[in-house]
Amino acid sequence: MTPVLVATTLVRPAGPPVPCPAAPLLAAELRRHGLDVEQRALSTGETTAHTVFGGVGLGLRADGEHERAARSALGAWLAVTGPRRVELAAPRSFCAGVERAVEVVEKALSRTSQPVYVRKQIVHNTHVVADLEARGAVFVDELDGVPDDATVVFSAHGVSPAVRGVAAERELDVIDATCPLVAKVHTEARRFAGRGDTVLLIGHADHEEVEGTLGEAPDQTILVQSAAEAALVEVEDPTRLSYLMQTTLSVEEAGEIVDVLKARFPALRGPGSDDICYATTNRQNALRAIADRADLVLVVGSENSSNSQRLVELARRAGRQAHLIDDVGALRPGWLVGVGVIGLTAGASAPPRLVEEVLAALGGLGPVNAAEHEVARETIQFTLPSPVRR
Ligand code: SF4
Repeated sequence: MTPVLVATTLVRPAGPPVPCPAAPLLAAELRRHGLDVEQRALSTGETTAHTVFGGVGLGLRADGEHERAARSALGAWLAVTGPRRVELAAPRSFCAGVERAVEVVEKALSRTSQPVYVRKQIVHNTHVVADLEARGAVFVDELDGVPDDATVVFSAHGVSPAVRGVAAERELDVIDATCPLVAKVHTEARRFAGRGDTVLLIGHADHEEVEGTLGEAPDQTILVQSAAEAALVEVEDPTRLSYLMQTTLSVEEAGEIVDVLKARFPALRGPGSDDICYATTNRQNALRAIADRADLVLVVGSENSSNSQRLVELARRAGRQAHLIDDVGALRPGWLVGVGVIGLTAGASAPPRLVEEVLAALGGLGPVNAAEHEVARETIQFTLPSPVRR
C-alpha cells in the first residue's frame, strides 16, 4: 500500500519553509484509519488537491486509493481548529528518582560493550524503555533472563530481598537503581517487622514497588488496597501494628484509608515522614491548582505508571474530562470538541519532551496561549549508586 504522506514541513520554491506542527496528530489519526503513513518534509510541488496548507499546520498528500480516509482524518482535526489556552501544571514530568534511574542505565551502558540487563521496566514509561533499548539495554522480567556474569540493573521500583538473594547467589554484577525514597519504605518495613509489628502496607497489588516492599517481611505484612479493605482487615494483635504506603498513591485516598485504620486500631503507628513521595504529592497539588480552570485535562504518561493514573483519577474526581496519553499520537480530535482550555501535566516517569510535543501539536490547530502554574520548586537530587558514580 502506498503510504500517505504527512508533511512535517512544507518546502516552498520561494520563501521560508512552512512548519506543520500538527503532523503527528494527523499521522496518528490516519494510522487509526488503517493507513500506512510517512511523515517528512514535503515540497509544494509534491502536493495535490488534497493538500491543506498553512494556518492550521496540517499538510497532507493522499492518492485516490486513500482519499476518503485521508479526508475523514483531516476533517476530524480541521473541525477542532481554533485558539486555545493551555494551563501547564508545574512540577510535572521526571522526578529525581526517575532521572537517577535513567542515568544509572546510561552510565552502565557507557562503561561496557556488553549488553546491560535491566530487571523490569527501569521506570514505567514506554518511551524511556524504547530509548534505552535502542541504546543497548535489555529488559527482562526476571533474573532467569539474565546470563551468568552479566550486569543487571534493578529498576527504580525496588526489589524484594529474595531477588537480591538470587542475584548474589549467581554473583551477578548488580547496579541498584531503586529510588532512595522507595528504599526508605523498605527500611521502615524491616524496622517495623523487626519490632514485632504486623505491617499494613497501603498500596496496589501487582505493582512492582509493592511486590518489593511486601518481600521485606512477607509473613508480617498485609496489603490494604482501599478504604473498604481497611474496614475489614483483621490482625492478630491490634496493639502491635504499623502502616506503610506505596510512594505513588493518591494523597487523598491514602489519607482516607489511614483514617479508617486509625479509627479501628488506635494503637496504629506510622512512618516518621510521609511515604507518598514529594514528587507524587507535588504533581497532584499542581494538577489540583489548574484542574478547575480546564475543560479537558491531559496527563502524559504510560498505562502502567501509577502516579500518572492517580493524576487522571484526581482530575476526574474534580469533575473534569481527563485522558492519559502515552504521547501526542494518542490525542483524539473528538476530545477537543468545544474545548477552549486544556490542563496539561505529566507523570513522574514521562520525559519532558513528550509534553513539549503535545504543546507544539496543539499549536498546529490554532494559536495557543500557554501559562505555567508552579506550586512547588523541586531541587532534590539523588547521588548515583557507587558502581556508576564516576
Ligand atoms: Fe522516587 Fe517518587 Fe520518583 Fe518514585 S515517583 S522514583 S518514589 S521520587
